[in-house]
Amino acid sequence: MKKTIITAFLFIAFIGINMQRTNAQKFDRSVRTAENFEPSIPHPEQDKAAAEKLADLEKKTGKKPNIVWIIVDDMGYGDPGCYGGGAAIGAATPNMDKIAAEGLKLTSCYSQQTCTPTRAAVLTGRLPIRSGLTRPILSGDKITANPWEDEISLPTLLSNAGYNTILTGKWHVGELEGMRPQDIGFDEFYGYYSAPKEISQGVDWHRYPDLTMNPDYMKTFNEIKTNTHLIHGFKGGKTEEVSEVKSLEDMGRADQVLADFTVAKIAEFAKSDKPFFLEHAFLKVHADNQDNPDYRGLSKAKYQYKNAVVEVDMHIGNIVKALEEAGVLENTFIFITSDNGPQMDAWPDGGYTPFRGAKGTTWEGGVRIPGIAYWKGMITPGRQSDDVFDLMDLFGTSLRLAGVSNDKLPTDRYYDFIDQSSFLFNEDGKGNRESVYFWWGKELMAVRIREYKQHIKVVIPSAPHMWIDYATIQNVGIAPWTFNLYIDPKEEMPVGHRRTAWLATLGAQLKVHAATFKKYPPKNIGL
Ligand code: CA
Repeated sequence: MKKTIITAFLFIAFIGINMQRTNAQKFDRSVRTAENFEPSIPHPEQDKAAAEKLADLEKKTGKKPNIVWIIVDDMGYGDPGCYGGGAAIGAATPNMDKIAAEGLKLTSCYSQQTCTPTRAAVLTGRLPIRSGLTRPILSGDKITANPWEDEISLPTLLSNAGYNTILTGKWHVGELEGMRPQDIGFDEFYGYYSAPKEISQGVDWHRYPDLTMNPDYMKTFNEIKTNTHLIHGFKGGKTEEVSEVKSLEDMGRADQVLADFTVAKIAEFAKSDKPFFLEHAFLKVHADNQDNPDYRGLSKAKYQYKNAVVEVDMHIGNIVKALEEAGVLENTFIFITSDNGPQMDAWPDGGYTPFRGAKGTTWEGGVRIPGIAYWKGMITPGRQSDDVFDLMDLFGTSLRLAGVSNDKLPTDRYYDFIDQSSFLFNEDGKGNRESVYFWWGKELMAVRIREYKQHIKVVIPSAPHMWIDYATIQNVGIAPWTFNLYIDPKEEMPVGHRRTAWLATLGAQLKVHAATFKKYPPKNIGL
């Protein structure tokens, strides 16, 4: 009798597990093709069509396509006009709006929650927890290993595939030797190692009078401060300091100098036999924003943040114009985005998001960012999609464009990117990514699959809008916090235990993700 009950119990449990697995499999459309690659949703027909389209173009141009990433720092989802901001909130963005209208506007595009993790992830195709680059490495940090030492960066792979590679603008992924852009694979770097507020703090008597007007404090500050120079570095080690930020005017003009450099570089690259990979990473609109002295009060709102949005938009227009004038626009894939949500702690020197949370959190406000894909002749104008896109997918998509197949990548590590080329380059392309995972440092926080998002940990501010400087990370309670982002984009009304099937399905997805770390453990660099 007892044996029968146990058998029956086991049978029911077995059925239960199998039903759950079957349901999860139905819901999760992705298929794993190699143990160390993130599974993707199979779309064989659109893959074939995109491959043919790319091959036709290459036949015409005789070259692989150029790749241009334009990354605005800390720009909010709601800042560009094409995402509901723009002129409506006092900072018109006609260039981004035009490019979006003539390209593909992604409305579910995700970054990591702060600068360094995003920048590391896009260049390695791996989550920051895997590479160890979970936060900036500062001069005082005693790290036990250079995280870049055994990473194979995108610029390295593209260089090997015959590309010129350059990063203009902000780096923020380590300024020590061996970790600089020119050390990790870029042929050339022209920019700053750090964020504007670190660079200008010592001369910003508006915001930091306690520091700048106290010679003793300044003495200490100068000993520990970040490098405040514009750097010109070259692969192989040659590195020079071009100029130093000595005033707020210097800082305000920095993005102009960088954009002018990029524009000149495009003309130079266009004449080369080699295709190019250009990452233009703006310093703006990261706090502390300083007006460009040549364009004071550029926005209708007149606030420094808003002026910075308009200035960045102006430079984006000029960069695209430079590609057109150099005759390479039709052979260049352009992607415009932000590296994380707006930094609300710096308000009013911060952006706008319609979502909950901000930079520093894994709420939508911290990680859902604008994503505009543009390629004249290759991306159908006027497209919009809410299929999920992780900025790491730029890694896989760029490799595809350069003709670098996955078998060129090592098998001893896990890759989180998805090749989204067939999604982007087909008129009716469907997204190839099923799930997006959200991390905060070394904590797994949440997953999104289709319109559902489940949190197992959350960032909670101790005062309204203080998402970084006055916040804690908390576990959720009995039920994971689960939201339907279609009916509740602000993540305010968890559907929780009323939707147990979804809880189990999303929970299973988190477990599958967590299991990838068993065979491929996170890299510890002592941060
Ligand atoms: Ca940022």
